[in-house]
Amino acid sequence: MRTQLFIDGEFVDGAEGRTIDVFDPHDMSPLATIAEATEVDVDRAVAAAKRAYPQWKLTAASERGRLLLKFADAIEANAEELALLETRDTGHPLRDTRGLDVPRTAGQFRYFGGMADKYLGSVIPVDRGFLDYVVREPLGVVGSIVPWNFPIMFVSWKMAPALAAGNCIVMKPSELTPLTALRVAELAAEVGFPPGVINILPGYGQSAGARLVGHPDVAKISFTGSTPVGRMIAGQAAVNGTRVHLELGGKGANIVFPDANIAKAVGGTAFGIFHNQGQACIAASRLIVHESVVDEFLEKFLALTASIRVGDPKDPATEMGPLTSPMHRERVLSYVDVATEEGGEILIGGKAPSDPTLADGCYVEPTVIRARPKSRVTCEEVFGPFMTVQTFSTDEEALEIANDVDFGLGGGLWTNDLSRAHRMARDMNAGMVWINSYKRVHPGSPFGGMGSSGYGREMGFEAMHEYTEAKSVWVNVDADIPPFYPRG
Ligand code: NAD
Repeated sequence: MRTQLFIDGEFVDGAEGRTIDVFDPHDMSPLATIAEATEVDVDRAVAAAKRAYPQWKLTAASERGRLLLKFADAIEANAEELALLETRDTGHPLRDTRGLDVPRTAGQFRYFGGMADKYLGSVIPVDRGFLDYVVREPLGVVGSIVPWNFPIMFVSWKMAPALAAGNCIVMKPSELTPLTALRVAELAAEVGFPPGVINILPGYGQSAGARLVGHPDVAKISFTGSTPVGRMIAGQAAVNGTRVHLELGGKGANIVFPDANIAKAVGGTAFGIFHNQGQACIAASRLIVHESVVDEFLEKFLALTASIRVGDPKDPATEMGPLTSPMHRERVLSYVDVATEEGGEILIGGKAPSDPTLADGCYVEPTVIRARPKSRVTCEEVFGPFMTVQTFSTDEEALEIANDVDFGLGGGLWTNDLSRAHRMARDMNAGMVWINSYKRVHPGSPFGGMGSSGYGREMGFEAMHEYTEAKSVWVNVDADIPPFYPRG
């Protein structure tokens, strides 16, 4: 297991010799002690990325693409090892890291490997006699700061488009879950990325993260994390005029209309909220269900919830693992108290599982709460296996409830009425809307939010725009320009 920082193509100790202990959230047994990056290391990594940039920028786009495709192959070739490492570091069930996280990571690198030499500039029909062409140029050194909920996937979400576009990257994984990012760094070196193009520095936000944000040679910060930290980062980045892309929190509305296929809505909702223990920014954390079908829906949904196999994430049969840290577990459980104080009714869960073999881990049972409108639990992001239930009687009311939060990331709706589906999709405040499904992602489809969920988009052409800027080049082909200051 790699435990050092990855700077300038090499694994090195942190300059100050500090370390971070990493634990397995299944039982809190020690997993690794890794080097902690501090400000000095960030400076070294940014300097290395800055040195590598001029060459990398001029490397043929097809060559950048070839390396990204090789990277995808390397991830697939090591998929089983990466999936197990991610499971141990985060608590995601192995069936999910195997079936979703690692394949999606490889898929992201493959998509942008293909994109690298197909991302086009344009020619603008300007004045007669002139040719105006627009090229998309990389930005330089990109700093990326990511959270702990999908660590390996976020490596690829940030890295793949940034590298395809010709940027170099300095990435700070979460201090809680740094292990797969370091293993991916090792694969990057094997694949042949030039030194300095990719740098990976686990460290704390207040030190390594803050230095990355404030570094004058960082052209852009691409941040995924909580709304308060994201806003603070945007303020700090503004001091140097550094661009910022913010992927922040969410409070996904998931609306079930009376004409929906209830069985499918039940299955989709369970995936939407309980996948990854609800630790997803796009989680379907607010069920908004029509009053005429709420009983039928809940009967089926609670039966399904009760049957979810919670346990050791390394067991391939496990469907829900522990939360990623004890601190986070406490936070999620504290919302059960908030719900009760607010007059909410706990329909299922709301506590740690009784199984003694899980007693040392960060486990929380899948939890469903019938909540009062406009209560804290229906407005604040809990980020756990914690779903609130509200009912509505008209489409207008459903929309009002759905939009009555500051977040605007993902949202879903279940209906067989075509007009209603598109009307709701149009009117929901969300960067992504899923009709008769929930939480679909694809490397080609823009991903991001509005309002308190941030701005900017991951994935697809939108991501390439995020990591490039337009340069307009004017060529006088045969224009005869009369003198502006005619003399004589
Ligand atoms: P967090 O904001 O606490 O931390 C995110 C990252 O920022 C970590 O790497 C952390 O070390 C770093 N950081 C913390 N303080 C910093 C500072 N002062 N300067 C620079 N960096 C700093 O978030 P978290 O608890 O790790 O993750 C959970 C949050 O992430 C949730 O709110 C969730 O919704 C959000 N999230 C959003 C998306 C999205 O795409 N919109 C995806 C996943 C998670």
